[in-house]
Amino acid sequence: MASGFLEDASFNQSPAFGDVDLFSADRPLAEAAGRAGLDLAALAACGRDYGAAGTLDLGRLANENPPKLRTMDGKGNRLDLVEFHPAYHALMQKSIGHGIHASAHDGSDRPAPMAARAVRLYLATQAESGHMCPITMTHACVGALRAEPALLAKWLPKIQTRTYDPRPLPWWEKNGVTLGMGMTERQGGTDVRANITSATARGDHVEITGHKWFMSAPMCDAFLVLAQAKDGLTCYLMPRYRPDGSQNAIRFQRLKDKLGNKSNASSEVEFHGAWAERVGAEGAGVRTIIEMVNLTRLDCAIASAGQSRIALSQAIHHIRNRSVFQRRLADQPAMRAVAADMALELEAQVALVFRLIRAAEHAAHDPREAAYARLLTPAVKFLVCKSTPQLVYESLECLGGNGYTEDLPMARYFRESPLNAIWEGSGNVMALDVLRAAGRHPEAATDTLSRLVRTADQAFKTGPLAQALEQTLKSGTAERRARFLCEGLAKIAAVAALVEAGSPFAALYAGTRLGGMPFAQFGSADLGSSETALMDRALRDCT
Ligand SMILES: Cc1cc2nc3c(=O)[nH]c(=O)nc-3n(C[C@H](O)[C@H](O)[C@H](O)COP(=O)(O)OP(=O)(O)OC[C@H]3O[C@@H](n4cnc5c(N)ncnc54)[C@H](O)[C@@H]3O)c2cc1C
Repeated sequence: MASGFLEDASFNQSPAFGDVDLFSADRPLAEAAGRAGLDLAALAACGRDYGAAGTLDLGRLANENPPKLRTMDGKGNRLDLVEFHPAYHALMQKSIGHGIHASAHDGSDRPAPMAARAVRLYLATQAESGHMCPITMTHACVGALRAEPALLAKWLPKIQTRTYDPRPLPWWEKNGVTLGMGMTERQGGTDVRANITSATARGDHVEITGHKWFMSAPMCDAFLVLAQAKDGLTCYLMPRYRPDGSQNAIRFQRLKDKLGNKSNASSEVEFHGAWAERVGAEGAGVRTIIEMVNLTRLDCAIASAGQSRIALSQAIHHIRNRSVFQRRLADQPAMRAVAADMALELEAQVALVFRLIRAAEHAAHDPREAAYARLLTPAVKFLVCKSTPQLVYESLECLGGNGYTEDLPMARYFRESPLNAIWEGSGNVMALDVLRAAGRHPEAATDTLSRLVRTADQAFKTGPLAQALEQTLKSGTAERRARFLCEGLAKIAAVAALVEAGSPFAALYAGTRLGGMPFAQFGSADLGSSETALMDRALRDCT
């Protein structure tokens, strides 16, 4: 008989979640990958790698030991170095090894390189979200660098290696590089046209003077930076070292003390005449950098879905192993209603995100897919990134008091969960972007919406909502109703994505999210006999 001391007995606690194949355990994800024609065995290996207990523990260590800034040495010489815990470096090596920073651009993973990379990003995020920042930015910067082919040709061979090289050296001496970006200034983030940092022409390069209020992953080898030139806001590539091998005039002032995202460093930085090269035409800074922003917005949605997934997996794992009143929580009707409702939300998140990736993948040669990507990228980022914190919070609560402690990862997931909604354009900005996209290309937007409605209507009559959206769009209240337009559009698109995916839950999602009683908490909806299937699909036993 147990003594009653804490360490003596198992006390009805769920075992640690780990050594799980995060890919194969996740039915909606595996099906999305199958539809995209991806190599399922390779992705399962990736799922095992990120789901290994050791990898999940790297996530803990990297966040419990946040990076430190060293501006100077003891003699007052500038260093401008950020020191990271070995667990952070190990995660970076792993994710660069899996090619998440570059594979979408180098022709690997045919026939759907963006989808294959998205699966790996979704899996990596589950182990640790913070290190995804430089990985995503490196991937996305390539999009903007395309505006300057000669510059891209110089950097691409170093970007595309699968080697993480954290040494503080000039980029050409390294075995692999990462890229960051600095747009946000103290007086304006969303409104980058308010940037005051300036660029002065010096022959074949410029010198940049000013600051950035947020510049994450400061140990990157170069940064895409916006600065005011003679002809207006312009995009530049600013390496950490000048061509003569000396350290560039990039002076880190502080690291942000953030709510979460602890493993990732986010700096405040000054440029004291820093050496940089132009990317794209002078005065075309916003147009150039938007190529990067569109890719990072997509990554925000993918990563948020991954955050929902790991939180829900932890919750389902726990309720399957914990009994209350002599009955497993997973068998208790009120708990099943909550878990299954979250699983339904995640079915929609995954279907929607992978539908958007398909559009992005085909946009270059298919005008309809281009129109879909233009209109839906901000809407999908809005919906997925905003529903994730609530899902993570409810998952945390499924673990009871344990969920609220720092001994388990739920608190970390919770702190991380609002971030993707903020960066790369916060909620209102995304909603206004939907209006802008619809205003600039009204016919394409109408066509996209009617196609979505035709598809979604196979599960649920979305016509009345679509009509209300169109009327609001044309009315004088569109800006005030921007969130209604954005969320309405995204939800119709989610229903359509579920239909296209052949999901048996399209009507259930539509009925509970667009019809019926307007309750907002997970667990209020009546999912009837679908609960078991939803929970089984969310976390299959694939350990
Ligand atoms: C952890 C972290 C890391 C970051 N890393 C980077 C980085 O590496 N590089 C970088 O450049 N930036 C970075 N950022 C900055 C981030 O992208 C900005 O904070 C974000 O874009 C919002 O800008 P802002 O903070 O200036 O807020 P503001 O632009 O002042 O916006 C404040 C609020 O107003 C809303 N709003 C804005 N315009 C309108 C409008 N027209 N109508 C109604 N509402 C509106 C916004 O949605 C937001 O809710 C980072 C931020 C965080 C938190």
